[in-house]
Formats: sequence, structure tokens, C-alpha cells
Amino acid sequence: MQYDVVIHGGLIVYPEKTIRAEIGIQGTVIDRVSSDTSLKGKREIDAEGCYVLPGIIDPHTHPVYLDDLDGLARTAVCGGVTTVIHYAYAKPGQSLVQIIQEWIQDGMRVSCIDFALHGGLFETSKQADEIPEAFGLGVTSFKVFMAYAKLGWMTDDYAMAKCMDIVGRQGGMVAVHAETGLAIDYIMDRMLEEKADFAERFLETSPDIAEAEGVFRAVYIGRLMHCPVYIPHISSAEGLAVMRFLKDRGIHVYAETCPQYLGLTWDALKNRGPLGKVGPSIKTEDDRFALWQAVREGLIDTIGSDHAPKDKKATDNFFEAPYGSPEVETMLPVVWHYGVNGGYITPNEIAALMSENTARIMGIWPQKGRLDPGADADMVIFDPSCSWTVTSGNQHTNATYSLFEGTELLGRVSMVISRGELVVEGDEYLGIEGRGQFLSTRAGHWQG
Ligand SMILES: [Zn+2]
Repeated sequence: MQYDVVIHGGLIVYPEKTIRAEIGIQGTVIDRVSSDTSLKGKREIDAEGCYVLPGIIDPHTHPVYLDDLDGLARTAVCGGVTTVIHYAYAKPGQSLVQIIQEWIQDGMRVSCIDFALHGGLFETSKQADEIPEAFGLGVTSFKVFMAYAKLGWMTDDYAMAKCMDIVGRQGGMVAVHAETGLAIDYIMDRMLEEKADFAERFLETSPDIAEAEGVFRAVYIGRLMHCPVYIPHISSAEGLAVMRFLKDRGIHVYAETCPQYLGLTWDALKNRGPLGKVGPSIKTEDDRFALWQAVREGLIDTIGSDHAPKDKKATDNFFEAPYGSPEVETMLPVVWHYGVNGGYITPNEIAALMSENTARIMGIWPQKGRLDPGADADMVIFDPSCSWTVTSGNQHTNATYSLFEGTELLGRVSMVISRGELVVEGDEYLGIEGRGQFLSTRAGHWQG
């Protein structure tokens, strides 16, 4: 038979093995993975010398700043990401269900790749009552913040318990921004009184100890409420120590970190002022090293980008500047460069941390997450021998900066296929807006 697309000669990557094989794609799905080199296709792609990875699934994106639902999907796919899971934030006064409905409609209209949603609660006591209805719309994971009280974002323990109780009963998962918010607010007030240099002392306003306390409290309240907890963007050795304690006790918790914590330190970023201001802070070399050890030993389940580029300049007032940076397009090459080239992990771990684990945790498995017959034909052809330099100019984000500006990386996305369609070829974006589909999730059931 003749396939729609055949990929020849690549090294196909699974969490447990790498094999040299051909992939036959029929329509939108993988039909065959075989050592038979005689497969024929209407389109044949030569992947000799390259790895073929499952399409990257980014569990942590914010398409509401410089990159919207359309733009974020574009910059994501150019970085090998074929599924994005956005945080749909319902701000105070907004209806969670209405926000989710709007995001599903808008995403279907403009996204070039498939997407799912986490619901985000800011007025948690009230909005939590809408959670059962959100489940009916295909949204089964929800995010709350333990920090940023002054922005009106913080959920207190009472409301968090209520949210986790409802989500736990429905059979979903709660993601928590875990930092001790009110103690941080006190520290910041004290620093304001002292007229402190916030740029110089940024780490004091987002300390590792606050992360550790937040992780423990969030997960233990989840335990009380029989609700699995997902901790996004773990940034510190202290946070990891608590995570190790929790996982050693068999507690149902998931851990995510981000490329900015794996590739950068605050010392290296300091001279870039507010551009490096992200929450939680990017910490020290010791923290970065601890994160790689944790990735290697399997303490970290997923890697997400926390892509949230804001309109800011290096010369802006540091204290006033918003948190966030563009990360989604550089995520895979950064993790590859520091992780695989750096000797911490193998390509197999990339397939687990950036695709299969994420699909299983979010409950979009087995449609997504692995290069098996029957699964969606989402994949990245990755050239490990191509070296390139990150500049904001060669990225597809609307941000005019990158935290990795000027960094030379070895390994580059060469082609991206989304549900059988070639959507990125070299530097060229070939996607079509609105072809992305909304994915219902069934989050929090897998325990790896
Ligand atoms: Zn985030």
C-alpha cells in the first residue's frame, strides 16, 4: 500500500528504547512503525541522522500576553510542540465555565495545533462551584495560586481545600503555584521600606524556602481532600527535597520544571534586569544542578515552558515589571542541549518527560504521547548535529527578547508533523490557523 507520508531512516525515540525504523502515516494517524525499508508514500521524508521524537506536549502555557492563542500555537510548533495545554484564567468577577467555553471556541478558530485547557481560579471559593460543569466541557485540571495576594491572585487554605475537595470528588487534579504568598509579601514590604534594590535582591522575594513550604502545604491539603496535586515550575533544591519526601511516602503528586530553571541562573541573568524576572525566580547554580539530578532520577515528571512573554525592557523599573518570559520555542533545544549534550539524560528521557508522561498525567493518552500505530501522527524530526544561536529574531514569538539570547545550542528542530500534516520544515512555518482541535482531558489518574 501507499502511505500518505513515510519517514525513512530516523532513530525513533520511546521512553524505554530507541530503534531505527520507518514510520508510515495514513491520514492523521501513525499506521505502521517498521524495519521494512520498502514502505512507499505520496510524500517521503528522509530522517537519516536525525531523531524522531513524539510531538512535544507543553503542559504550561499562557496565551494572553504578547503571544495570543494564535501566536502562541505558532511559536510552539516551530519549537516542536504539537500539543499545548493553556491556563484559562477566570479573573475575579468572571465565570470559570464561560471563560473555558470562550477559550475552546477561540482556540478552535485560531490554533494551528491541538490544545487542552486547565481552568484557573482567582476567586476560588465562588468559582469552585463551577468545577463540575467544567468537567462536562472536558476540563479536569485546575490551577490556584498560593502567592501574589497583592495582585488579588492568592487562594487561601480554606478556598484551596474547597477546590481540592470538589476536584477530588470529580476525579481530576489541582495545579498549585506553590510559594508562601503572605510571607513573601511581608518580605517585599520590608524591602520597600528599606528602599532596597529589588533587581539586586530578587531572589529574596522568591526564595527557595517559600517554594518548599508551598509544595508541602499544597500537597498535604490535597492529601486531606483526596485530590492529586500537580506542582508546576519547581525551581529549587529545597522544593525538590520536599518533593522527594512526598514521593517517598507514595503520595499522589506530580512535579514539573521548566527549561529556564534547567538552563539559566539568576547570576547569569542579572544584567538583563526585568527581562529575567519570572515567578518563581530562576535561582542558583546549585539549584540548577539539583534540578538536573532530579530529572535524571525521575523525581520530575514533566517539563513545561511557562511561556508568558510580557511587554518589558531591560531598562524598566524592576519592581514594577511583570513576571514572565518567552520559552516555548526554545524549550526542546534547550533541554536537549543542557540535558542530552550535557550528559544528564538521554533522548529517551526527553520522550518521557516532554511527551509520554505529560499525556498520561493529563489523560490525553494514548491519542497523544507516543509514536505507536493508532496514535495521532504528531512528531518532531530533530537534528542533533545542527548548531545554531538563539536570537529573538529567529524566533516566532512576538516577544523581542529571549532569556537565551546569544546562546549557542547543539541540536535543532528540523521538521514537525501534526496529525499527519507537515507544519514546520526547516525555518518555514507551514501551519494553518484553526486546524487545531480541542482535547478533553482526564487528568490526575496516572501514577507512574
Ligand atoms: Zn505559569
